[in-house]
Amino acid sequence: MKLKLIDRTVTMSRREVVRGLAMGSVVVLAPGCTYNEELGRSQLLFVSSGQMAQLAASAWSDLKKQEKITNDPKYTRRMARVAPRVIAASGNDPSKWEVQVFDSKALNAFALPGGKIGFYTGILDIMDNDDQIAVVMGHEVAHVNYNHSGERYSQSTLAQTGLTVAQVAVSGSRYQNQIMGVLGMGATLGVILPYSRRHELEADKFGLRYMHRAGYDVDQAIVFWNKMASMKSGAPPEILSTHPSDATRIAQLQREIALIRQGQVS
Ligand SMILES: [Zn+2]
Repeated sequence: MKLKLIDRTVTMSRREVVRGLAMGSVVVLAPGCTYNEELGRSQLLFVSSGQMAQLAASAWSDLKKQEKITNDPKYTRRMARVAPRVIAASGNDPSKWEVQVFDSKALNAFALPGGKIGFYTGILDIMDNDDQIAVVMGHEVAHVNYNHSGERYSQSTLAQTGLTVAQVAVSGSRYQNQIMGVLGMGATLGVILPYSRRHELEADKFGLRYMHRAGYDVDQAIVFWNKMASMKSGAPPEILSTHPSDATRIAQLQREIALIRQGQVS
């Protein structure tokens, strides 16, 4: 649980919001809605990053049992080189995160709350350099940092059924499908539900900053996403979901790269 992060992103549970209200330190726009200064918008959050991490822990251990993890140094060495740098640059302690490479041709990667990152061998195979790994790494870390899964959860049908995060976590496999859905994973690995257009663009934007701080070449983001766009076929991977469009995504990246180059953001 990353308290510092929770604090920074103003992610809090209902109880914390109530407590904050009582102390006059929280401005609530709507029930469960808190304003995040970095994102420049309010987030509908009934669950904290810590609660989401609790949910993700069992899903992650199941995934690792069910799917083939590669120990091929061709992949693991690259990830071991890039991942800690990007995670540290995002303000997190890499020793508290876990990164695995799954053996699959899928052009995909994913992140679970609590700092669990999965890459597929397929996507690493098309990455020309460490900078391109850092592009996707930064993107996935940003999803975690801004508790996008928590937001999806808060908006999901699971929330409407009245099940609390604690109930779901305790009930375990009975609600496994819902848990996976909330976390954005389909019933089988390789089917990752799309985040919203807004979440994708936020992940791109902040991921770019993380990779820049880590010393990687942000221009490689354009090279990489153009390559992914040209390889699109069949079911779109999460990181290439139908929204935002490739053009929107590339245009935003170009604007953000310009801001970074001008030293306006870091
Ligand atoms: Zn994404």
